[in-house]
Amino acid sequence: MARVHVAIVGAGIIGCLIAREMAARRPEASLVVLDRDQTGCGASRRSAGTHIPRGATARFRRMTEYSHDYYAGLRRARPALPIRALPMAVVADAAHERTILERYIPAAAPLRTDTLPCRVTDLPERSAAWRISGGHYADVHGLTRALAAELRPRVAFREGVEVVAVDPSPTGVTLRLGTGETLTADRLVLAPGPWTGHPAWAALTRALDVRVKKIVALHLDEPTAPDDGAVVFQDHDAFLLPLHAEGHWLYSYVCPHWDVDPDTVGRGLAPSDLAEAAESLRVCAPRLAGRVGSARVFCDAYGPQGEPLITGVAGAERVVFAGAGSGFGYRLAPAIAGEAADLLCQD
Ligand SMILES: Cc1cc2nc3c(=O)[nH]c(=O)nc-3n(C[C@H](O)[C@H](O)[C@H](O)COP(=O)(O)OP(=O)(O)OC[C@H]3O[C@@H](n4cnc5c(N)ncnc54)[C@H](O)[C@@H]3O)c2cc1C
Repeated sequence: MARVHVAIVGAGIIGCLIAREMAARRPEASLVVLDRDQTGCGASRRSAGTHIPRGATARFRRMTEYSHDYYAGLRRARPALPIRALPMAVVADAAHERTILERYIPAAAPLRTDTLPCRVTDLPERSAAWRISGGHYADVHGLTRALAAELRPRVAFREGVEVVAVDPSPTGVTLRLGTGETLTADRLVLAPGPWTGHPAWAALTRALDVRVKKIVALHLDEPTAPDDGAVVFQDHDAFLLPLHAEGHWLYSYVCPHWDVDPDTVGRGLAPSDLAEAAESLRVCAPRLAGRVGSARVFCDAYGPQGEPLITGVAGAERVVFAGAGSGFGYRLAPAIAGEAADLLCQD
C-alpha cells in the first residue's frame, strides 16, 4: 500500500494552491493531489475569476489583502499566466460612500469618478461611482492547470481517480480509490469544492455546516472593446465583466437557490434563472437587458455566515477541510491555502 505525507483531494484552484504552499514550506514532504476529473475542471472551470479588492468583514478583508498581494507577486513572476489587470469602478447610492471606503482594501484606493470604464452601461440615476485600483480577472481553469504544470516535477497528480472512501485512524488516513488502489497519508486535505457531501467523506463534513448554492452568470451578446473595464453594483451584489478573450460581457448576480447537487446543477438555465437574472440586469444595466443569450450555470460551497472554512475535522485529527469558497473561492484561494498549510504544519 502506498504511503505519502500529504494527500490533497480536489485539484481545483484551492487544492492546487495548497499543494504549491506545502511544496514551498515542506520541501522534503511527499505530496499527491487526487481528482476524479481533470485538474481545474470543477467550480474552477466555471469561475468568472474576478478579483474585486474588497471584503464585507474584517476577516474577508484580511484574506483579500493576502490574496491580492499573492496574485500580484504571481503576475510579476510569471506575466504569461492568464491573469488580466482590469479597470474597475464600483457604483452605489451616493450615501453609501462610507461603506465603500470601509469595505475596499487600502490598495483599491476608491476615488470618486464621473465616468464608468466602459460604454455598455450608464451610471444609474441617484448613484455615484468610484474608481477602484488593483482589480483583475483570471481564466481560473487555465491558471489552475498552469500552476499544476509547474508543480508536477515535485507533486504527484492523479487525475481521473475518484476517492471513494476515507478511513481516518490515529496513525494515518487511508483512502480507497476508484481504481481499486488504497493510499495512506499522514495528513489528508479535503478541498472538494461543492462536492462537500460526497459519500466518501460526508460523515466527516456533515457537522461543518457547509451548504451548496447555485451560481448563474449571464453571458451577454455585447462585444467588448480593448479598454473596457468591470463595473461593480455594490448595492445589488452584482457586476459586469468584459470577457476580452471570449469577446462578450458577463453579468454576475446573486442566484438564491440553495442545496443543489453539483453533479446535476450544471445542466443549463432554468426558466426561473432567466427571469431572476433578467430582472437584476434590468435594474443595474437596463441597456443590456435584451442581450441575454447564454450563461454559465454551476454552484459553489458556502461556509457558515457565507465565509470560507479552513478547519481540522472533529474526530479525525489528521484531516483538514479547506474550501467553501462562498462564491469568492478564486479571490480568496491563496489565503485559504495559506491557512490550510498553517494547520498542516502545526506539528
Ligand atoms: C459561475 C461561477 C462564477 C464564479 N465567479 C467567481 C468570481 O468571479 N470570483 C471568485 O473569487 N470566485 C468565483 N466563483 C467561485 C470560485 O470559482 C470557487 O469558489 C472556486 O473555484 C472553488 O475552488 P475549489 O478548488 O474549492 O473547487 P473545485 O474547483 O470545484 O475543485 C474541487 C475538485 O474536487 C474534485 N472532486 C470532488 N469529489 C472528488 C472525489 N470523490 N475524488 C476525487 N476528486 C474529487 C472535483 O472533480 C473538483 O475538480 C465562481 C463560481 C462559479 C460556479
